[in-house]
Formats: sequence, C-alpha cells, structure tokens
Amino acid sequence: MEESQNARTVKHDDIEIRILREKCIGAATCVVYSPSTFDLDESNIAVVKEGQWDELEKIVAGAQSCPVLAIEVYQAGKKLYPTS
Ligand code: SF4
Repeated sequence: MEESQNARTVKHDDIEIRILREKCIGAATCVVYSPSTFDLDESNIAVVKEGQWDELEKIVAGAQSCPVLAIEVYQAGKKLYPTS
C-alpha cells in the first residue's frame, strides 16, 4: 500500500484504516458515526484514534458517511470501502 505524507494508515488486528488527509474537508460525519475511531485534529482534519475502535460496521458507516471519500477501510488486506 502506497503511503504519502498526506495519507495515514493505522492498523488494529486485521483492520486497517487509511485517511486521505488532503481530501478531508473536516465535515466530521465520520466522527458522528464512529466516535471511538475517528477524531479531528487541530487543523480539523480527520485522524484515527488510539485505543479501542468501534466495531467494524460503525467504522465502515463512518467511511461511507464521508462526502469526499477520504476514508478507506481494509480487512486482512482486502479493501472493504470504497469498493470500486
Ligand atoms: S467525514 Fe470525511 S471529510 Fe469529514 S472529517 Fe471525516 S474524513 Fe474528513
């Protein structure tokens, strides 16, 4: 998986979340859907939180809620969202 300065990938067990920070517009719907997984940093750009995440369904719902497709979710190396 290619990593750039503006994409951050965080892994827990077999789940990986990638935030494309240059796309994020700080809409914060990901935080509403999955508050234990996503947060906004001081620049109002999404980050993945430390500690226990929400269950996978909520993480995917958070990614699906993002209006600019700035969140990618992988499980065991397989892309769950976005699917295209
Ligand atoms: S929903 Fe998307 S645009 Fe909004 S804060 Fe989360 S990652 Fe950023």
